[in-house]
Amino acid sequence: MSSLVQVSGLRKSYGSLEVLKGVDFEVDRGEVVAIIGPSGSGKTTMLRCINLLERPSGGRIEVDGNVVCEEQDDGTMRFADKRSIREIREEVGMVFQRFNLFPHMTALANITEAPHYVKGLSKSDANARALELLDSVGLAAKADAYPLQLSGGQQQRVAIARALAMDPALMLFDEVTSSVDPELAGEILLVMKELAEGGMTMLVVTHEMSFAAEVADRVMFIDHGLVVEEGSAAEVLRSPKNGRTQAFLRAVLERAPMAAEDEADTGPIADSHSQEILRSHIDTDGRDDG
Ligand code: ADP
Ligand code: MG
Repeated sequence: MSSLVQVSGLRKSYGSLEVLKGVDFEVDRGEVVAIIGPSGSGKTTMLRCINLLERPSGGRIEVDGNVVCEEQDDGTMRFADKRSIREIREEVGMVFQRFNLFPHMTALANITEAPHYVKGLSKSDANARALELLDSVGLAAKADAYPLQLSGGQQQRVAIARALAMDPALMLFDEVTSSVDPELAGEILLVMKELAEGGMTMLVVTHEMSFAAEVADRVMFIDHGLVVEEGSAAEVLRSPKNGRTQAFLRAVLERAPMAAEDEADTGPIADSHSQEILRSHIDTDGRDDG
């Protein structure tokens, strides 16, 4: 069976700044891939290329058999036509770092908007599905709330429900917990974990190493626009081979102990032992290794 997502030789420049320098990876159906890497390494740009929110400068992307873009022999880019782009965007749900719900609409209306107006679902079908989705993200009681009446964590869960309402084949998450108070991150991560367990294919840019360790089938480390290291979560997070991956994980873990304690009782992910496990394995000077 072919992969759901195939990316090869992906390049993207802004003027003279080359942000993606030839990224290759594939994602199988049902697979959860965590993308980690320093700020500015090109993670957001890479996700945005997949549904053509950014237009790649080179390489090829295919999603579920649809060619999103393809570099031609003469080096020019050929992009999917308008209609295919619409189809691709319906198949690819995206949740961003900043909450981007429509502020003048209730949670329910935020979720029903696209299924009704884009997919042509009847109002009552769209409503019924939206209520189901709100329930699945723990917000059944908030259907009539406006975004400003919701916490950041609740808004992100509505945003996830909104993306799911289009029945996407693939979900992209871009640091969706970075803008919420740390004690609210756990409730978002739990929803994502349940989604993963339900078989959703997910590409997750995250700084939450315990989430990556627990939920991701695979971890990709990106630095300076290239995939530097890739493997199972255990391989990449516990025994990174590349020096840059090691340095990045050390830096992340130096900041993490406090956060891990603060979040100790916010849920199964935040209070997991993975931080501890990671810390013991990533100590690359070997002091703790037995
Ligand atoms: P990350 O998500 O890993 O932090 P980004 O993909 O957001 O990285 O950004 C990678 C690089 O591309 C950064 O140097 C950023 O400043 C630059 N960049 C991103 N978007 C644009 C844009 N629209 N115009 C110019 N430069 C951009
Ligand atoms: Mg980013």
